[in-house]
Amino acid sequence: AFTFKNAYLQGVYDSVVKRNGNEPEFLQAVGEVLMSLEPVVEKDPSYETNGVIDRIVEPERMIQFRVSWVDDNGKVQVNRGFRCQFNSAIGPYKGGLRLHPSVCASVIKFLGFEQTFKNSLTTLPMGGGKGGSDFDPKGKSDNEIMRFCQSFMTELSKHIGADTDVPAGDIGTGAREIGYMFGQYKRLRNEFTGVLTGKGLSYGGSLARTEATGYGLLYFTEEMMSCMKNDSVKGKTVVVSGSGNVAIYATEKAQALGAKVVALSDSNGYIYDPNGIKLDVVKQIKEVERGRIKEYVNRVEGATYTEGCKGIWTIKCDIALPCATQNEIDGESAEILLKNGVQVVAEGANMPSTPEAIDKFLAAGILFGPAKAANAGGVATSGLEMSQNSERLSWTFEEVDAKLKQIMINIFHNAYDRSKEYDVEGNLVVGANIAGFLKVADAMKWQGVAY
Ligand code: GLU
Repeated sequence: AFTFKNAYLQGVYDSVVKRNGNEPEFLQAVGEVLMSLEPVVEKDPSYETNGVIDRIVEPERMIQFRVSWVDDNGKVQVNRGFRCQFNSAIGPYKGGLRLHPSVCASVIKFLGFEQTFKNSLTTLPMGGGKGGSDFDPKGKSDNEIMRFCQSFMTELSKHIGADTDVPAGDIGTGAREIGYMFGQYKRLRNEFTGVLTGKGLSYGGSLARTEATGYGLLYFTEEMMSCMKNDSVKGKTVVVSGSGNVAIYATEKAQALGAKVVALSDSNGYIYDPNGIKLDVVKQIKEVERGRIKEYVNRVEGATYTEGCKGIWTIKCDIALPCATQNEIDGESAEILLKNGVQVVAEGANMPSTPEAIDKFLAAGILFGPAKAANAGGVATSGLEMSQNSERLSWTFEEVDAKLKQIMINIFHNAYDRSKEYDVEGNLVVGANIAGFLKVADAMKWQGVAY
């Protein structure tokens, strides 16, 4: 539960609770942002009457639909699909599609809400959206994945478009799924447009999009360490949770910057390799074979596997990069990390730290890079993919990567500068939330309210 000093913000939060009482993830995400806005409302009391904050916490549109598909045994399966078009003040809705059994209205709305502020931070013209389904890709055949993706897109195609809403990947949605969905959109609409990002390179995808979230996380972390502690990633011991797209490319860039990554995980457990993770082995297991991370210990000597994923935070490290999923670091894990001397936490996943964990990190004075800022490199590069699609050109890897790096550096400085401006120097949670908010709020004010 959140309590506010400002009575107006308390009122907004209370009405959000009233409308969404059974959606804990959404309430958590909204509560955190509203807490960050206390100094904004204090500085500019017009927010207490102009209705911007009342509107920004309510999605513009929430679409829920049935996805039926036929499995390999000829049996009809039914899943629930969602697209949350959260905020279009600064551009077309933009955000990924999550395929995971935990997907529900609360999860999609929290992700769409976060996406709105994250996309604003990128400086690119993208509104916030998110979608997905409770479909579980685990154990499904390639044909089942294809049929699900086609059925999902049959409905989704009615609501999206290159200038309306541009979905992309997220947990469970990678290049394969985007390909099947793009194919279906084209079939139904007879339009070859940049309606999805994260596409394959042969049909309009951008170089460096695959690497972007993980690389961006490290560009952000490096800038944060250099600017706030005169330090760098080089020589540090790093724990990365997850072993999907974000975790793999965070590991790759951390290693390239001279760090030693000693652990990775999946939803079953974690691997520890004191000699440093062999990323080619991980890529083979995860990207080629679509296997489980525990397979690593059968191929690399000296590595160990432990069941359960929370234990990864008991490994001693200088830098922790949660790249798995929401609420993966709770207060207890945060305390263990701090006791073991962690100096930096930067979030590659969306909302991976609980409010209790964040409070502990901030109180300890370590460097903390919040998700909206630190993992914005993925969607930023999606924005660059949209630009390339619009001009029907493809940029080189170096060009995209250089732009990504500059965007991440700018995001850090924007959040850091706002934290100073609002008297919470170094608190990048508040700094990023305020920086993201101000641009969306300004656009909303200019565009008026429909009576
Ligand atoms: N799913 C990613 C995110 O959480 C990327 C979204 C996109 O590229 O649109 O930001």
